Amino acid sequence: MSGNLILILGDQLSPELSSLRQGDRMADRVLMAEVMAEATYVAHHKKKIAFVFSAMRHFAQDLRDDGWRVDYVALDDPGNTGTLRGEVERALASGGIDRVLVTEPGEWRLLDEMSRWPGTDLIADDRFIADRHGFVRWAEERKTLRMEHFYRLMRRKTGLLMEGDQPAGGRWNFDADNRKPPAPDMEVPAPPRFAPDEVTQAVLDLVAKRFPENFGTLEPFGFAVTRADAEAALDHFIEHALPHFGAYQDAMVGGQPFLFHAVVSPYLNAGLLDPLEICRRVETAWQGGWVPLNSAEGFIRQIIGWREFVRAIYWWKMPGYERSNVLDASRPLPWFYWSGQTDMACVSACVNQTRDEAYAHHIQRLMVTGNFALLAGVDPHALHEWYLAVYADAYEWVELPNTVGMSQYADGGLLASKPYVASGAYIDRMSDYCGSCRFKVKAKSGPDACPFNLLYWDFIARHRTRLAGNPRMGQMVATWDRFSPDRQQQVRREAGAFLATLDQ
Ligand SMILES: Cc1cc2nc3c(=O)[nH]c(=O)nc-3n(C[C@H](O)[C@H](O)[C@H](O)COP(=O)(O)OP(=O)(O)OC[C@H]3O[C@@H](n4cnc5c(N)ncnc54)[C@H](O)[C@@H]3O)c2cc1C
Repeated sequence: MSGNLILILGDQLSPELSSLRQGDRMADRVLMAEVMAEATYVAHHKKKIAFVFSAMRHFAQDLRDDGWRVDYVALDDPGNTGTLRGEVERALASGGIDRVLVTEPGEWRLLDEMSRWPGTDLIADDRFIADRHGFVRWAEERKTLRMEHFYRLMRRKTGLLMEGDQPAGGRWNFDADNRKPPAPDMEVPAPPRFAPDEVTQAVLDLVAKRFPENFGTLEPFGFAVTRADAEAALDHFIEHALPHFGAYQDAMVGGQPFLFHAVVSPYLNAGLLDPLEICRRVETAWQGGWVPLNSAEGFIRQIIGWREFVRAIYWWKMPGYERSNVLDASRPLPWFYWSGQTDMACVSACVNQTRDEAYAHHIQRLMVTGNFALLAGVDPHALHEWYLAVYADAYEWVELPNTVGMSQYADGGLLASKPYVASGAYIDRMSDYCGSCRFKVKAKSGPDACPFNLLYWDFIARHRTRLAGNPRMGQMVATWDRFSPDRQQQVRREAGAFLATLDQ
């Protein structure tokens, strides 16, 4: 008897996956494989590798329980060829296979490779809300591309938070209510942590043995690795954190890595949770009066707006987007992105938290590590490889546009309407990091000046011509122009001296 081979990748852990829907439990076989090529194409955080392998092993068991025949190749299995192609060829060699079915991979690199595999059908991944081909037609008809316009389309398409044709509450976007600095007395709910079962413990031992030099603390390990536990994490978020998510979305507090964030991106991106289902749950919580509209809208916008928008841009602009560098930034990534050893308390806190949790929330990524790299002129490709490696939720389709486009402005403003740069004052307003810093956030120059202050003006000066033409940056350029020549020279000299220390 012959049948098809359904290859399931590590971020395709969804029972409703398009390839499984086309398959036949009686005739087809599922193949899942842990391969070195995928585990090492960047040096992933130890917790990220452990999360993916453990979630894969649990998903394989769920499929078996559901009646599928599953061939699972573990990393240490004898004969493991180390590549997906090799594992598919091994399965084909055993005979009885008509076609290989794969839901389209999330990364261009793999899609390009698999589109050349013989006998392989690539099936569209319909776990997203926007159609990536339709997006290209929509985008190419527009003079400027803004997430907000796309988001409104997605609201209409899904009906989420809609009252007829109008947005609930009379506004599409409640962001103006969502920029509160941290309150000294706020109580933060800790997200649930899930004790490793035997399967996870075996994976933790494997990762400790095979990836000892990779960045990151492996244990304690508390990620959910099953759909049931990911749903429990979502329930906990909706009940305890979502009511405050909106207001404190941009806040940063030392020792509180998660604040009121959902910490569901690893689960969503691996397929353990479904984006539309999550949003419907959040909408229901708002309808039930448990969460305010600014929180529900802010959260839903991240998922049906930003998450879908960056994916669509990724597929539109790949290949090539990964080499975007309109600002010609070429500085190597400073070593403290790995060691956390820097006197800048904010950067140190975000890197150390990343090392321990494989997690940082959006503003920590955008306005601390991303902001610093942009101000310092770090090579966006090197930074991209860092973000891709260090976060448990990082897959190129979502990480690359966030890094190269939103955070580094390396695509010249395709994704973001202005460079996300800020001086120390922003970090001081939105966090408690500056209190313990050896630099003085109020000092604009001199040996104690916060490096973000010096680098901010140096960045404006370096890119003055480009920024003067940006309506959202013109005012800052005009302010720089009003600095006396002496002050301009001092800022540039001190910024240059600081930047020189990064290269040592
Ligand atoms: C430089 C940089 C790199 C990033 N890399 C990744 C990445 O590799 N993977 C990833 O999933 N997100 C990435 N993001 C977006 C965002 O930081 C994370 O999605 C978020 O921090 C995940 O934590 P959370 O689940 O607690 O999110 P919450 O703050 O609770 O938000 C809820 C959900 O909204 C979605 N979301 C929010 N913002 C974005 C965004 N800008 N793009 C896509 N989805 C978004 C996520 O699925 C997230 O789980 C990056 C952002 C920046 C600035």
